[in-house]
Amino acid sequence: MKTALVWFRNDLRTADHEALYRATENFDRVLPVYCIDENHLKESWLGIQKMGAKRMQFILESLDDLHKNLAKQGGGLLVVRGAPADVLPELCAEYGAEAVYAHKEATREERDEEEAVKKALDGRAEVKFYWGTTLTHINDLPFPHTELPDVFTAFRKKAEKQSEVRALFPAPESVHLPEGNRELGELPSLSDLGLGTEPIDPRAAIAFKGGESEAWKRLNHYFGETQKLAEYKHTRNGLLGLDYSSKFSAWLAHGCISPRSIFYEVETFEREVKKNQSTYWLVFELRWRDYFRFVAARFGDKLFYPGGIRDERPHIWRDDARIEAWKAGKTGIPFVDANMIELRETGFMSNRGRQNVASFFVKDLQQDWRIGAAWFEQQLIDYDVASNWANWAYVAGVGNDPRDDRYFNILTQAKRYDSKGEYVKHWLPELSHIRPEMVHTPWLLSKDEKKLTEIENTPYARPVMVPDRWKL
Ligand SMILES: Cc1cc2nc3c(=O)[nH]c(=O)nc-3n(C[C@H](O)[C@H](O)[C@H](O)COP(=O)(O)OP(=O)(O)OC[C@H]3O[C@@H](n4cnc5c(N)ncnc54)[C@H](O)[C@@H]3O)c2cc1C
Repeated sequence: MKTALVWFRNDLRTADHEALYRATENFDRVLPVYCIDENHLKESWLGIQKMGAKRMQFILESLDDLHKNLAKQGGGLLVVRGAPADVLPELCAEYGAEAVYAHKEATREERDEEEAVKKALDGRAEVKFYWGTTLTHINDLPFPHTELPDVFTAFRKKAEKQSEVRALFPAPESVHLPEGNRELGELPSLSDLGLGTEPIDPRAAIAFKGGESEAWKRLNHYFGETQKLAEYKHTRNGLLGLDYSSKFSAWLAHGCISPRSIFYEVETFEREVKKNQSTYWLVFELRWRDYFRFVAARFGDKLFYPGGIRDERPHIWRDDARIEAWKAGKTGIPFVDANMIELRETGFMSNRGRQNVASFFVKDLQQDWRIGAAWFEQQLIDYDVASNWANWAYVAGVGNDPRDDRYFNILTQAKRYDSKGEYVKHWLPELSHIRPEMVHTPWLLSKDEKKLTEIENTPYARPVMVPDRWKL
């Protein structure tokens, strides 16, 4: 009887999972394993805890669903607390496993983990990694990933014209477990992991629930029941509500669904319902996701350097009061604060919001972009190393933006995307009495109006800063 372990990472699904598929093809017995490594819960070198409770909750829900889906095929999921380099060799010895199959990651800490596992096993079991997190397989790129174009558009055009999206791997029909004494499907609670529960605010655009089953439910809602996909290009810059964008991000980030599965569902939608700019645009966004993962693969550690992949020397000035005001949603700029409060209370923020608060942090408050990225890392349920750090670097002007001088005028953006102030009032009820035309600039109200609307002693009467560039 030949046995293999399948090491699950950011790929918490059974469908289109090459490592699981190949292990069940090549081995008589397969043990699916997930390691909860408490290093992922610690503080980063920037002094910010890496993972908040909301994301951990999503992961636990995803693990529970994965266990149940594997159990339907005769298997199950063993969840062990510890670093993979400690846990996997121990399990190989215990279960007589000859191999460990897993998906490969692109970023530093994750690649270090892979090397540590290989080293710890020291040839006692074969370790095989598959590339399974992008739409285009890294080996199908029309150029070596080390020659990835510096600009997204060049990458996208080549990928669209010259690369096929590989076929899906079906979920295995059966998973035969090796004999052993460990209990499968058992999960720690948040408090076991030293985290408190953080309920998601009922005002949330979406209350994410982890798992492959939930990912497909969301896809069926967006593509099937509501067919909102057909409007995506026109709604995607929205700020309020469930369906202005796909909200696939958390399930994609944790691999509950693969980008290839979404791609083929878009094709089905195009055949059976409608093909238009919106259907094209969703895949376009998945290519951004691919691009940033290949940027991470190409540039390695530079993604985390202050000067980013451009080797810039950014002007960095540390002002803790400004940083804390930004994190807490107390800058006094309503559009920034509403977004930051949404992030803190729900673990999610729209793409429009992310671009604005990041730009404000870097270009207006002039703080180290990596502190902003680390805060997002802690707070986001859909945190994805490459997408987060590469988007931050892009906004900070040290990434892949072909324009050197890109600047978001937060006020112009707020007035364009929240013209009636509905979004701002949704998250900042203290501004509910302010006239719509003044809601984005409450500091300009007269003294009497400030008193009347009860903002006179709040940051909205005196923001941390109002940049001259806003030309009020
Ligand atoms: C500063 C900053 C930080 C970000 N951090 C993350 C992160 O940690 N994790 C993450 O998944 N996305 C991140 N994004 C990208 C984007 O904001 C989110 O993917 C998107 O808002 C999620 O909502 P959605 O699933 O409804 O997106 P949709 O608009 O429906 O897009 C569909 C999918 O395409 C991908 N996508 C869309 N835009 C981008 C983009 N700019 N970069 C990479 N992928 C994209 C996502 O996987 C998304 O789920 C960040 C953007 C910025 C500006």
